[in-house]
Amino acid sequence: MLVVMKAHASEEQVRAVCEKVESLGYRAHPIPGAQRTAIGITGNRGTVDPGSLEEMSGVQEVIAVSKPYKLVSRDIKEDDTIIRFPGSDASFGGRDLAIVGGPCSIESPEQAFAIAERVAKAGARFFRGGAYKPRTSPYAFQGLGEEALKIMAEIRERYGLRIITEAIDHESLELVDQYADVIQIGARNMQNFSLLKKAGRLRKPVLLKRGMSATLEEFLMAAEYIMSEGNYDVILCERGVRTFADHTRNTLDLSIVPAVQRLSHLPIVVDPSHGTGKRNKVIPLSRAAVAVGADGLLIEVHNDPDHALSDGAQSIYPDQFDQLMSEVRQIAPILHRSVQGPVAHYAVAKA
Ligand code: PEP
Ligand code: MN
Repeated sequence: MLVVMKAHASEEQVRAVCEKVESLGYRAHPIPGAQRTAIGITGNRGTVDPGSLEEMSGVQEVIAVSKPYKLVSRDIKEDDTIIRFPGSDASFGGRDLAIVGGPCSIESPEQAFAIAERVAKAGARFFRGGAYKPRTSPYAFQGLGEEALKIMAEIRERYGLRIITEAIDHESLELVDQYADVIQIGARNMQNFSLLKKAGRLRKPVLLKRGMSATLEEFLMAAEYIMSEGNYDVILCERGVRTFADHTRNTLDLSIVPAVQRLSHLPIVVDPSHGTGKRNKVIPLSRAAVAVGADGLLIEVHNDPDHALSDGAQSIYPDQFDQLMSEVRQIAPILHRSVQGPVAHYAVAKA
């Protein structure tokens, strides 16, 4: 159920509707849009009787949402969600494409700083780096943990980049929340519902990767889990799905970008690194992702990929990242988008 407020409804009127919804035992989610505020009603107690809400002042109409996802849907918010970061010109979903660059794993301060410097100079606003790695083998490098988080906090200070890193369980989520600007939830955890709910109770943006075999609806429902707990800053990320194709690690499903944009107001970025698993395919698929209308790119960059502790084969060199940025900078204007230049000032407030 969705309560659509009148364009000029006051804050008090919105608050009164929310209180009424909560008094009925449901949860109210006021979502401001460009034209008007809509209030999503969630709860698992069956359908709400719209009668009493319809009569309240400031209410335009009460409508039933037929789709299983409610807060994710464009029904509740017609205009695109833009996620901004105070104290910086970084954003997801705005006119500027959100470019995220960095290694699969943080391996040492030297490695991380060297890559961060190149990524910032090339015009990215976000630095990615794994501190907790979900690895197929228990014997593979598992990440430096909190030490890596501290290195990334230093990168934010030195280079003015916002930090994105993955939480793999409840414990790492608490630590990631302390250090990062954006919490990544990986493909393997897309349906870890207790982790999604916990991330939903935090107030940091969440970058949610599509599960390896997730349908569009399952992907959107995973985002709904986060939003249903009150965290509305969710970024979707297509990172390839499992298919019979064996010329790439995964099959990058670019068609999900317009499919998501039709149904949801949330930003969606593309990760061609995991999506292809091959260094030589990252630039072409980045061009394609921007052309299809993605809101940004997530790219693995390494200064010495042959010796990377994870995902070296798909990591591009800093020089290739420069080339990628130059190419997508030329494609973006066709889509009425832009790609920023180098980070202007390195001094940013602590997040
Ligand atoms: C990663 O970003 O390094 C990662 C492990 O991604 P995914 O969850 O998409 O495999
Ligand atoms: Mn990786």
